Amino acid sequence: MQIFNHIAEIKNYLRKEQKNGKIIGFVPTMGYLHEGHLSLIRRAANENDMAIVSIFVNPTQFGPAEDFERYPRDLQRDVNLAQQAGANVIFTPDVAEMYPQGYKTYVEVQEITNTLCGASRPGHFRGVTTIVTKLFSIVRPDRAYFGQKDAQQAIVIQQMTKDLDMDVEIMVCPIVREKDGLAMSSRNVYLNPQEREQAVVLSESLALAKKLIIQGERDAFKIKAAIVDKITQKPLAKIDYVSIVDAQTLKDIHHITNRVLIALAVKFGSTRLIDNIIVEV
Ligand code: AMP
Repeated sequence: MQIFNHIAEIKNYLRKEQKNGKIIGFVPTMGYLHEGHLSLIRRAANENDMAIVSIFVNPTQFGPAEDFERYPRDLQRDVNLAQQAGANVIFTPDVAEMYPQGYKTYVEVQEITNTLCGASRPGHFRGVTTIVTKLFSIVRPDRAYFGQKDAQQAIVIQQMTKDLDMDVEIMVCPIVREKDGLAMSSRNVYLNPQEREQAVVLSESLALAKKLIIQGERDAFKIKAAIVDKITQKPLAKIDYVSIVDAQTLKDIHHITNRVLIALAVKFGSTRLIDNIIVEV
């Protein structure tokens, strides 16, 4: 496996591979890899000639009061895990390599970035679309793999690649969960034992919502109320948002028809967790 820190070097390496006809699968990550990331890497390795993984904690997608500095990092562990999962190349640039002095260009997707996580984290998606665009122009992947865990991110990236005619197929992969249902996240390490125990309420409340819909409930307001009620039974949970939106447009839904995304963000202390489910009726 090859590890690159510099843009010019990985470009040079990949352009040669691509000239030889190699099909490239790409998995952008912020590192501190877990089974969720590894499921993406395994798929990229299975479906392409080469799997490229980037590990970069991207400062432009963190707000000033967010956890950029303390975001967990362990490159050696990540390198081993990525290799075992089938990665052929790791790209791990530093911040100055990606945003050198004088950097001035940002990519912004409108409207669908203003709701859900975009409303609570202003500027977050601008940082995401900017770094993903940069990574795509460095790697030039045929396919790029994203997790359904970040449902809005996957939709925003799909919109961006369509709008900007980027030649990359966006593959969205299922959420990988702990045994008790908690969606895997690098941020789960922040949780103390009590918070960790109570955090299972995110997936439980989504399962409850799905059950209500299956039983025939179509009023999004009532379903939201049931989710909020369940979450607020956990004393350490502070709801950021609970939303029921059209799975494509991300617009709020009142009466449930066809495909809805139920998404939520809940804070435990300073740790903000997200989860979601898509329900089709
Ligand atoms: P991150 O390192 O958190 O930026 O995540 C990198 C990629 O892994 C994103 O496309 C995430 O959606 C995806 N991912 C993170 N957690 C999970 C999970 N539990 N299941 C599936 N994909 C995930």
